[in-house]
Amino acid sequence: MWNTSADEMIETIRSEAKYTASYTGRDKFSDRVMQAMRDVDRKAFVPEAYQHMAYDNGPLSIGHGQTISQPYIVALMTDMLNLTPQSRVLEIGTGSGYQAAILSRVAKYVYTIERVPALAQAATKRLAQLGYHNIEVRCDDGYYGWQDKAPFDAIIVTAAASHIPQSLTDQLQTGGRMIIPVGLQYLPQQLLLVSKDETGNTRTEFILDVAFVPLVTEADNLVPPDHEPGT
Ligand code: SAH
Repeated sequence: MWNTSADEMIETIRSEAKYTASYTGRDKFSDRVMQAMRDVDRKAFVPEAYQHMAYDNGPLSIGHGQTISQPYIVALMTDMLNLTPQSRVLEIGTGSGYQAAILSRVAKYVYTIERVPALAQAATKRLAQLGYHNIEVRCDDGYYGWQDKAPFDAIIVTAAASHIPQSLTDQLQTGGRMIIPVGLQYLPQQLLLVSKDETGNTRTEFILDVAFVPLVTEADNLVPPDHEPGT
């Protein structure tokens, strides 16, 4: 059954959060995250052809083989970051800009990187038109993070990586958190939470199985420096 209104979308997120509590360790998301999910109209980020499905709890195509994520997953990933109004966040995979808009309501500033130029341009324009002033979009390979703006209190990767990029872990502030889907394309991937403690040690926890479009990066095609052909 499709959600036909934003209120129904919020109710679905609430019940999904309860349903997945044994995996996520939380049976509801913070008031600030739920308020952001109410305040940001998903319809403004969904292509014309799918407007009637804008509040449904599923991913939707945004062109270029990419998708806007499922609302429940957007809420979950945002909640897992434990953001405060002072947080500076890095997102990899701007897509439609919807997740960035949600983050911008919960955090202080959002830096977001998108590799497809047309999507980066469309998201920049859309976010400006909607009046978001605390989001900066950049077109690049997000695998390497955003060194000039690091460290970040939180990092969110919204495309599935083959592994956790060391460059992103390095750009995470002590006490910070990163949420990232890791795994192979078309298989359930694992949503992982990486926490960096005050001494800089990281801990990785499995949250739940997810399905994201792949993180496309030249890093996956590079030969590791210690690799000798034929060995
Ligand atoms: N967060 C988005 C949905 C993400 S879909 C939203 O709210 O709409 C994943 C996005 O990651 C796609 O737009 C894809 O082009 C982008 N992407 C894939 N690999 C990337 C990379 N290496 N760097 C930056 N963006 C990447």
